[in-house]
Amino acid sequence: MKRIISISVGEVALKKGNRNFFEKKLLSQIKIATKDLGRPNVYRERGKMYVQANEDNLDTLINRVKKVFGIVHVSPGYKVEKDIETIKDAAVKAMEEARKSREIKTFKVDCKRADKKFPMNSMEVARSVGGHILENTEGLNVDVHNPDIYIYVDIRDNAYIFSEKIKGYGGLPLGTNGKGLLLLSGGIDSPVAGFMIAKRGVSIEAVHYHSYPFTSERAEEKVKDLAKILSRYCGKIKLYSVNILNIQKEINKKCPEEEMTIISRRFMMRIAEKIAKENDIDSLITGESLGQVASQTMKGLNVTNSSVNIPVFRPLIGLDKTEITEIAQDIETFETSILPFEDCCTVFLPKHPVTRPKLEDIERSEEALNIELLINEAVEEMDILDIRI
Ligand code: ATP
Ligand code: MG
Repeated sequence: MKRIISISVGEVALKKGNRNFFEKKLLSQIKIATKDLGRPNVYRERGKMYVQANEDNLDTLINRVKKVFGIVHVSPGYKVEKDIETIKDAAVKAMEEARKSREIKTFKVDCKRADKKFPMNSMEVARSVGGHILENTEGLNVDVHNPDIYIYVDIRDNAYIFSEKIKGYGGLPLGTNGKGLLLLSGGIDSPVAGFMIAKRGVSIEAVHYHSYPFTSERAEEKVKDLAKILSRYCGKIKLYSVNILNIQKEINKKCPEEEMTIISRRFMMRIAEKIAKENDIDSLITGESLGQVASQTMKGLNVTNSSVNIPVFRPLIGLDKTEITEIAQDIETFETSILPFEDCCTVFLPKHPVTRPKLEDIERSEEALNIELLINEAVEEMDILDIRI
């Protein structure tokens, strides 16, 4: 009897002609995510995926595997010989296992038979296994309509027995949908935005802007920590760290005070676009949400957006702060995000930022700046880090 984790895929299974491509990607993502846990065997058997485990690493493996995008459920279970007596014993074991964590009074056995040569049909297996569970456990009844638990028996090249279904995030395997450059601040929103786009199969790189020495090294550490948490889902993340203090000083000196934020944001976008173009990245990703702050009004977003031609994805655009916070808590970036370190934008924060900026006005103000030179200088000086778990 071997310990395994059975994987259920969602949308991946709907990719008719491309299914093989998506499954291969998913297999390789599971392998990458579990590499440092002793390279467990990850394999396909008659169209279903499994990860070989043992009692010692089962929980750690589940925790890792369920975070791989493309997976809807993971189920800890047993892999046994295709022999009805062995299957029955494994089913009792799976039931005992499940009863350790919650009260179970009723059950139903659900059998699927991918191997039609197996001598019993699904109904017969279910009945036989159900009877065996009743005989060998106390205080249980069968309920075929609304059972407390299902015991699944899957007959393939081997037989698989499992019960619990632990939720994954769904989505599509990383690397099936191009690359995006996440504008990663130290706040709550941008890590969530990166997570949401990565979930659609997009590989993520990140850019962070700081104003060192006005902003501290600890603020930098915080952003690296956030990238590290994200890398649990997104794999290795290349982080471009760009000092924009000079740019902010120039804007501060030569442009109207109330336009500071919006013009800084246009520089952030332009620098990101340049990095994207030089690194074969197809889109930018931000944590902007409509109306959340002065620079995120409809007009503000339009003026920010007009500074670049590359597509900009804003997955949080229609979410409230409470909804964003819930996701941040779920993906475990929240606690790090709320650490109180200053962001570069707070250094030159205007008292009354424009909420309805006009593009012509902003462009006129920017004429006082040597945009290309400022961007090139900042990009030349940037640091590049590889962030991984
Ligand atoms: P967050 O919680 O993500 O910091 P926010 O509500 O504070 O967002 P803004 O400061 O207006 O909003 O930033 C909007 C978006 O611009 C962020 O979600 C992020 O994508 C990007 N951004 C802001 N500051 C930085 C920064 N210092 N480095 C990189 N990207 C940034
Ligand atoms: Mg912010």
